[in-house]
Amino acid sequence: MKPRVELDDIRPYEPPRMAWEIEVDRGSKEYAKLTMNELSFGPLPEARAAAMEAISRANRYPARDADPLRKAISAANPGITAANVVVGNGSSEVLVDLLQILDRPGEVVFPWPSFPFYSSATRVVGLTECQVALDERHAVDLDALHAAVGPETRAVILCNPNNPTGTYLPLDRVRSFAGALPERVLLILDEAYYEFVEDPAYAGSHELVLQSTNVVSSRTFSKVHGLAGFRIGFGIAPLGISDYAWRAHVPFSVSIVAQAAAEASMGQTRSITERARFMTQERERLQAAFDETGLEYVPSHTNFILVRTGPAVFERTGVLVREGEALGYPGWSRISIGSAQENDRIMAALT
Ligand SMILES: *Cc1c(COP(=O)(O)O)cnc(C)c1O
Repeated sequence: MKPRVELDDIRPYEPPRMAWEIEVDRGSKEYAKLTMNELSFGPLPEARAAAMEAISRANRYPARDADPLRKAISAANPGITAANVVVGNGSSEVLVDLLQILDRPGEVVFPWPSFPFYSSATRVVGLTECQVALDERHAVDLDALHAAVGPETRAVILCNPNNPTGTYLPLDRVRSFAGALPERVLLILDEAYYEFVEDPAYAGSHELVLQSTNVVSSRTFSKVHGLAGFRIGFGIAPLGISDYAWRAHVPFSVSIVAQAAAEASMGQTRSITERARFMTQERERLQAAFDETGLEYVPSHTNFILVRTGPAVFERTGVLVREGEALGYPGWSRISIGSAQENDRIMAALT
């Protein structure tokens, strides 16, 4: 077998340092795992019940193109129809489906540091990447991003808010960036942390999607919905794009259980909003503590905070955080916001 040369310097995804790896050092299993921006709480009771019910139907393939879930998503985003919604095995798969429909050869432009998967996915599907540095405040530099778009550019991926920095762009800035982009270039807005942004000037990208032919917003059930283990995400796309994304899609890639849980969770708007509010309040509490102790951090609009110190500080109180080196921030750490008790342990590590 002769593998494609593009794969030569791609490594399989390497998960963060896990509890078992440092167990030996500490002799304890009591860790707060704050490495992957997961929710520290389980699924909502309604989502759990729907998943349990779906298990008894596991002998059947899931609904064709996830129809009931797509209806629930369109109901939650006024103006869009189920035909605008694409669903994937995590928003990661939605991203791959979108990259698959782009003309070859070609280039994908994205800010950097950002989500590492953009780089590997782009190369695995046979496109080339163009990384554009963040500005000195760790935010996306839209002018530089625009300047990087050339005749070979097929897509721009904008992680908004950006992982790992937690910075965001309000909708009017995204709108003018999208408006200045050639229509042949796809703009993918990765909004995995959508629910954690409090500024009302941020929300509403689905309206931009509907007014465009080349903008897609991608969201996930892995973060505020607490369903990361079920692997389910979705995209909101103009009809010309959703049509093609389904052509590239692996049939039935999202399990019947994941679809049922996601549909139920989508319907619980109030509980989800409450969870998001809890996380943003905890975020303010942690940032206030960082201010007090003089720990440098990037003010966040997500459920994680990038701080300028290594992971060892937090391991003192049994808190596992993501080491910044793997994210393009050597000497920094990315801390996911956890439960109140877990966040207390973050604060205890600082004193
Ligand atoms: C967590 C995260 C996702 C979620 O990916 P899934 O495949 O939906 O679990 C997507 N994009 C970014 C930037 C993330 O941080």
